[in-house]
Order: sequence, then C-alpha cells, then structure tokens
Amino acid sequence: MEKKQELYSGKAKSVFATDDNDYVVLSFRDDTSAFDGEKVEQLSRKGEVNNKFNAYIMQYLADNGIPTHFEKLLNETESLVKNMKMIPVECVVRNVASGSLVRRLGVEDGLELNPPVFEFFLKNDALHDPMVNEYHIETFGWAKAEDVNKMKELTFKVNELLKKLFADAGMILVDYKLEFGLFKGEVYLGDEFSPDGCRLWDAETRKKLDKDRFRQGLGGVIEAYEEVARRIGVPL
Ligand code: 5GP
Repeated sequence: MEKKQELYSGKAKSVFATDDNDYVVLSFRDDTSAFDGEKVEQLSRKGEVNNKFNAYIMQYLADNGIPTHFEKLLNETESLVKNMKMIPVECVVRNVASGSLVRRLGVEDGLELNPPVFEFFLKNDALHDPMVNEYHIETFGWAKAEDVNKMKELTFKVNELLKKLFADAGMILVDYKLEFGLFKGEVYLGDEFSPDGCRLWDAETRKKLDKDRFRQGLGGVIEAYEEVARRIGVPL
C-alpha cells in the first residue's frame, strides 16, 4: 500500500491517501492541544505512544465485536484505517463526574454516576463543541436516526469492555469520547482511543493518568500515558 498526498490535518493527527481509495493512513503527531486548540505543545513520543495505544485498544474492541476502522499498524507513528465519511458528532460516556459536566451542572468532581451519563457534542472548535441532542443531529442531517442509535449502542458496549480492561489494571475509566464514521453505508468506530480523549484515574490514589495532566499543567504527561499502556500490556 503506497502512502500518497495529505488529505487532512487535525490537531493531533494527519490523514494521508493511499493508492486504494478504501484505506487511508492515520499519522499520529506529537502535537498536543487543549481548549479547542488554544493551548498547543509538542510532547516528545506522544505520536508513537498514542499510535500503539490506539492500535491495542482498537484491536481489543474488534476482537470483542465492535466494528472499528482500524486495519493494522504500519510503523511507529502510523496506522492503516478504513477511509470513512466521519459523522461530525462526539459521543461521550461518563462513569464518574469530572470536566465539563462538573462545570455545567455544579456537581461534585469524582461523584460516581449510576447509570452512566451519555452526551453528544458537535465537533466544531469555533463553537467550542456545543452539546447537542438526537433531534439536532437528525434535523441538521449530521447522521440518520438509525446511525445515531447505533453510535449510542456501540459507545455503551465500549464502556462495558473498557471499564473492565482498565479496572483489571487498577484504573477507573472516568469518561471518554468516541467518534464514528460510515464505511460502505455501515457505522464503524473511528478516530482514536488514547489518554488524549479519555479520563483515567489510578483506582487507589485517584492520580490523573490522562490529558488532564496537560490541560491542568500537572507535568509528566507522556510518562502517565506510558504507565497506562504498560499496565494494560500495550507493547511500546
Ligand atoms: P469534557 O466534556 O469533560 O471536556 O470531556 C469528556 C471526555 O471526552 C474527556 O475524557 C475528554 O478528554 C473527552 N473529549 C471531549 N471533547 C474532546 C475533544 O475535542 N478532543 C479530545 N481528544 N477529547 C475530548
């Protein structure tokens, strides 16, 4: 498979065409951003750690019945994935209150959420990713009702699988964001799953092991990502 021209460059990853229109190369960069791109830094090794972390999680999810865009690792920082039409909506599940939920509703950070909370956000930095609901998604044509239901169902299935994976390694999956796309008319999990897009706390100490270390200037960002990877057995 030959890598061709760059198709798209996001805040942390770039997408390249290949000689097969069904597949693209996802290239993980060291760029790290927060607050809708207002804070940006280069963190050495992040591209490599997230590429390998994502490959491990995507393979684990695929092995457990989740349709994903992931095909294979190509090298340290790149993976081959299906060329999807992305749905511009983020699916968030929260097992524990933190982040924007705490800011919006004034609930206590760390409060256990039972049942977990599900939220949709529109992917739009200029509008600061506003929260939307199923009606907005259907009315504005971002996705069909049946695909919205599928995204929700898959996001909750991922929760059961990953809550256990991380719990078995001594961590709490506080919350996470997933993105989906369409490939030949079917919904697949896309984008990435890495500590950039979830919150993970050590189960005993509640130490943050995710991108909040970057957002809050706590330091040791990549060291924390590597620790999570090591604990769940990602080969780095
Ligand atoms: P919150 O709404 O609390 O900011 O985020 C909820 C969860 O989704 C967190 O795990 C956060 O990392 C993830 N998340 C929400 N929006 C984004 C985004 O635009 N990019 C990334 N990488 N993660 C996001």
